[in-house]
Amino acid sequence: MFDYLIVGAGFAGSVLAERLATIANKKVLLIDKRNHIGGNTFDFYNDYGILVHKYGPHIFHTNSRDVFDYLSLFTEWRQYEHHVLASVDGQLVPIPINQNTVNTLYGLNLNSSEVADFLKSKAEKKDHIRTSEDVVINAVGKELYEKFFKGYTKKQWGLDPSELDASVTARVPTRTNRDNRYFTDIYQAMPLHGYTRLFENMISHPNIKIMLNTDYTEVQNIIPHKSLIYTGPIDCYFNYCYGKLPYRSIDFKFETLEQEFFQSVGTVNYPITQAYTRITEFKYLTGQKHPKTSIVYEYPKADGDPYYPIPRAENNKMYKKYQLLADTLPNIYFTGRLGTYKYYNMDQVVAQSLSLFKKIMHNELKNETSEPTSSILEIENSND
Ligand code: FAD
Ligand code: UDP
Repeated sequence: MFDYLIVGAGFAGSVLAERLATIANKKVLLIDKRNHIGGNTFDFYNDYGILVHKYGPHIFHTNSRDVFDYLSLFTEWRQYEHHVLASVDGQLVPIPINQNTVNTLYGLNLNSSEVADFLKSKAEKKDHIRTSEDVVINAVGKELYEKFFKGYTKKQWGLDPSELDASVTARVPTRTNRDNRYFTDIYQAMPLHGYTRLFENMISHPNIKIMLNTDYTEVQNIIPHKSLIYTGPIDCYFNYCYGKLPYRSIDFKFETLEQEFFQSVGTVNYPITQAYTRITEFKYLTGQKHPKTSIVYEYPKADGDPYYPIPRAENNKMYKKYQLLADTLPNIYFTGRLGTYKYYNMDQVVAQSLSLFKKIMHNELKNETSEPTSSILEIENSND
């Protein structure tokens, strides 16, 4: 009999497996329906020997010292600050929009306070910032919104920014200084030997058994366990009884080129032209030296693997119904990007699972059996 059956070997499930095994001495079975660990952060060396991310570019960044210290138990780091350019009006300019972006785009030479005035003169102030359109128009006005955000967002989500929660485009700030970095978090680094190695170190413990190619729906009744931690899509767990929660998926198209570098930064965004949203060149992220280079194009689509929960009121409403149902089940916990239907970055998922671990320990101490308590934890969004 396992103490915990954990569904999903991504960050959400693996952090809990590690904590329960190491700190609480629990016997854990960690299953994943895929043929690998690491969830969407899984990376591997392709046929050319270049380290690539199977499910799109993953750049680690956090303001949480706890999360960084915790992950540092399982990996060394390579300092890396991500830079992104956007292809706009035939030029490649920095995104987030900043002093350099404005000067390059408009052929100006404004200083920081002049850029602030320039953007203020373009911005259309909104009393209530409700949608992803409001966020950007309020900060930089319609013209820059249309150049950088409208088309990209429509491609990425299949929705107009006016149909999405403000939180989506609010991930990308506006700056008036010359900081070209995509993120400003205190800790910005990539696992030195990749994510998969980090996961191997995290979950190799005598108390953790791992079963890959194992779908929970097929084994749920045959694996004896006392408690369940579920990090797959919550609507799937409940057999879609309140309807299907919408997710956005992506086709990743990989290419390896006979040249040392393809572009000048890690990622180039294509807000308007092209069917794909962005191209990422892995060697910038990993620091790998290689005479060839591998890149990935991202083509968003509606169907396929559930990669992105879609933050908008009607979806959140449906999720809440599932959450209420989840709260009635004792000894079953939901966590992670799919388990709690939240557009979380890796660090937020790690923080969420570390909090859930504390809560589980607290519940065990109380030896709670009959009185179910809320099984879903939510954390503050720590994005820019
Ligand atoms: P997942 O990694 O999705 O793991 C869930 C696991 O559960 C999967 O492996 C799945 O196979 C398994 N599973 C589901 N159902 C079942 C079942 N029935 N039976 C068995 N197993 C099941 N975050 C960042 O911080 N920085 C980035 O740069 C970044 N870039 C991203 C780019 C893309 C294209 C995407 C899609 C995400 C990105 N993220 C990034 C977010 C990051 O991937 C997530 O925050 C994190 O991986 C979520 O971990 P998780 O364990 O909750 O989910
Ligand atoms: N976005 C945009 N243009 C850009 C970059 C981002 O419109 O050049 C919007 C888009 O809606 C995107 C969201 O901002 O989905 C969040 O961007 P982020 O880079 O954080 O997306 P992720 O890396 O999670 O796919």
